Amino acid sequence: MALDRFGRRIHYLRISLTDHCNLRCLYCMPEEMTFRPNAELLQDDEILLLTRLFAGLGFDKIRLTGGEPTVRAQIVELVGGITHTPGVHSVSMTTNGVLLARLAGPLAEAGLQRVNISIDTLNPAKFRRLTRWGDMEDVWEGILAAEQAGLTPIKLNAVVVKGYNEEDVVDLARLTLEHPWQVRFIEMMPFAGATEMQITQMVTAAQIQAQVEAAFGALEAANGGKLDGEARLFHIPGAQGDIGFISSVSAPFCATCTRARLTADGVLRMCLLREHEINLLKPLRAGATLDDLRNLILEAVWNKPWGHGLAEGEIALNRAMSEIGG
Ligand code: SAM
Ligand code: SF4
Repeated sequence: MALDRFGRRIHYLRISLTDHCNLRCLYCMPEEMTFRPNAELLQDDEILLLTRLFAGLGFDKIRLTGGEPTVRAQIVELVGGITHTPGVHSVSMTTNGVLLARLAGPLAEAGLQRVNISIDTLNPAKFRRLTRWGDMEDVWEGILAAEQAGLTPIKLNAVVVKGYNEEDVVDLARLTLEHPWQVRFIEMMPFAGATEMQITQMVTAAQIQAQVEAAFGALEAANGGKLDGEARLFHIPGAQGDIGFISSVSAPFCATCTRARLTADGVLRMCLLREHEINLLKPLRAGATLDDLRNLILEAVWNKPWGHGLAEGEIALNRAMSEIGG
């Protein structure tokens, strides 16, 4: 069991499978983003070895992310290897959904349990503007394919950006009337790459909720008022699905954080919003023993920061969001 100094049991690992992506969302990365060469990224056998090590330390919950995880070569085989790792009980993926129409079935067969799909608007023109060249229809087909493949409950993620999609939260929330989906609205966080817009065009969870309530009336608390992961859940009376608000900036949930992040280039990051990193790939390639690596992980977990420093104006600027893994 991996405990930090504050007694939190850290057992949830987010693995970024690549920093590459087939979209260029404005709030995530600059258009001219340069990606790391393949040799600098964790190879399949390295990911599987680290997964076994983390699982042996009690990490039983894994989320695969990126960049865009589905653009990685041999993704289905890799997911199969991760889901079959002893000690790993839950494997999910965060994806932009573009390739899910083709991959949802094979990924489900490989043991993937759930997906979170990012879709910030149902308006194709606005979708293109936010993603720079994405086609909203591809994502919609991906969502339906994921549902068909049993990658449920389907969770949809929408980052809300002033001047781009504030009004679109109403159409997204409306989806929950007819579908048993969880539509989650995310406050935009600041990183490198798009910092100016991330700070000046952020919309708070309270503002988003007010917009949704103006359209549907007061929302009812769901999940007994408890957080579901990082989301505070509500529903429109009579709706089949839930609406979640992720207020990482305005009301952080650091006290209950149980996560660690492994970046695609093999660095362990114990807080999404802090720059401190522990390189695991370098020692692994330099011949470190499994015990050495285990000790590095346990020490990193022990020293996990209590929380982020956004309220004090501390912004982690050493990576763009896509280089960490959301
Ligand atoms: N490519 C996949 C996707 O878009 O779902 C996975 C990686 S993406 C970095 C993970 C999540 O982070 C997505 O839901 C995305 O919308 C969100 N995200 C990206 N930049 C963000 C930012 N600056 N603040 C908050 N969330 C962000
Ligand atoms: Fe790619 Fe996801 Fe970032 Fe959009 S949010 S650019 S889909 S990694």
